[in-house]
Amino acid sequence: MYSGPSDHENELMLATVRSFMDAEIYPHEAEVDRLGHVPDELGRQIEQRAIEAGLYAANLPEAVGGGGLSMRAMSLIEREYGKTSHALHAWIGRPTEILLACEGDQIERYLRPCVEARKRELFALTEPEAGSDVMGMKTNARRDGDDWILNGSKHFISGPCMPDFAIVFAATGIDETPRGSRRRITAFLVDVGTPGFDIREGNRCVSYRGYKTFELSFSDVRLGNGQILGQEGQGLELAGKWLSMGRVWVGACCCGKAERIMDLAVQWAADRRQFGKPIGQFQATGFKLADMAMGLRTADLLVSDTVARAEAGLMEDRDAAMVKVYCSEMLGRVADDCVQIYGGMGLMEEMPIQRLWRDSRLERIWDGTSEIQRHIITRSMLRPFGA
Ligand SMILES: Cc1cc2nc3c(=O)[nH]c(=O)nc-3n(C[C@H](O)[C@H](O)[C@H](O)COP(=O)(O)OP(=O)(O)OC[C@H]3O[C@@H](n4cnc5c(N)ncnc54)[C@H](O)[C@@H]3O)c2cc1C
Repeated sequence: MYSGPSDHENELMLATVRSFMDAEIYPHEAEVDRLGHVPDELGRQIEQRAIEAGLYAANLPEAVGGGGLSMRAMSLIEREYGKTSHALHAWIGRPTEILLACEGDQIERYLRPCVEARKRELFALTEPEAGSDVMGMKTNARRDGDDWILNGSKHFISGPCMPDFAIVFAATGIDETPRGSRRRITAFLVDVGTPGFDIREGNRCVSYRGYKTFELSFSDVRLGNGQILGQEGQGLELAGKWLSMGRVWVGACCCGKAERIMDLAVQWAADRRQFGKPIGQFQATGFKLADMAMGLRTADLLVSDTVARAEAGLMEDRDAAMVKVYCSEMLGRVADDCVQIYGGMGLMEEMPIQRLWRDSRLERIWDGTSEIQRHIITRSMLRPFGA
């Protein structure tokens, strides 16, 4: 069976990742889904084994203590990780690349501890009233002498466990631009435990059960100037740089999950017999398998092409948007068709399909919905015409 793009140099690394997944991740999937959380000792065990296997912070440069993997290598690894639940995957540890913007004291206080699994961060952009409409955010910070006073709230901010700090995006003023007034957004590093910063577990998601979402609220939280990540007013540029690559990783994960689901569908279509023959021999079932294989191969090629663009410094926002929307929608079709091929058994809790189907659904929503990705693509097409 086609197993996605690969090459000789990456085979060894992929063998390490696959044996890690076999030993440390897959055996726990069903139990974590049933429990609705990853027991802390299990999470810490995965984290420790990931460090030993050299997989923790593999995305960050060697100069800061990371694994220094190329984007291509990362895309192949993420494809493998995508086969499992994000609740477990997240414990392996891929600190947010945005932390590379840390400067001065911030490097020892935030970046290094994250690379070395001594601290965990959250990326806090979304608010109850500002999801897709990021610029509608109400969280704000105002100057008070040399300090900033932060107020507002965030929700759906996700991670494997209670974090040590959050990267919080807040409006710090208004900029006048050729396209009109625009909120000035700044990223702050906010430690859990800072007076006025409340964090609690939020709603439970049926995709990736056990992956936590948090609600954050800020009431007159006093922050020093040294808590600004990057430059004041440059928060969205910083986030945008990271979000685009994150969307490519989402695409790679979707390909991995689609491959796993397709393999289950093929096996079932070959084994399950009705009317005296394997159901895969009925054209209605067999053609679903053919569509899965074509969709997956196309998605893999798109990820591969986009990673090549990124490595050449040529990736644009719309390239990452295409990957995100295409791969997540391909996965949605594969997961849904797989349930259909399984028939009633596809919806039984004892089978993994219903879990993979639930997990797949989130991919079209987080990191920017399919509709928002299409906006990004359309905007890039119309802008040259002034529309
Ligand atoms: C499990 C989970 C984990 C998450 N983790 C994080 C995290 O760590 N950090 C973080 O900051 N955020 C996180 N999010 C938030 C996620 O990015 C948002 O849910 C997502 O961006 C959509 O925002 P929303 O849910 O408010 O939907 P809304 O913005 O309310 O959208 C609802 C619907 O309206 C559509 N819509 C909205 N605007 C338009 C438009 N202009 N044109 C066409 N259609 C539109 C959307 O596409 C969608 O279909 C997480 C979400 C979930 C569910």
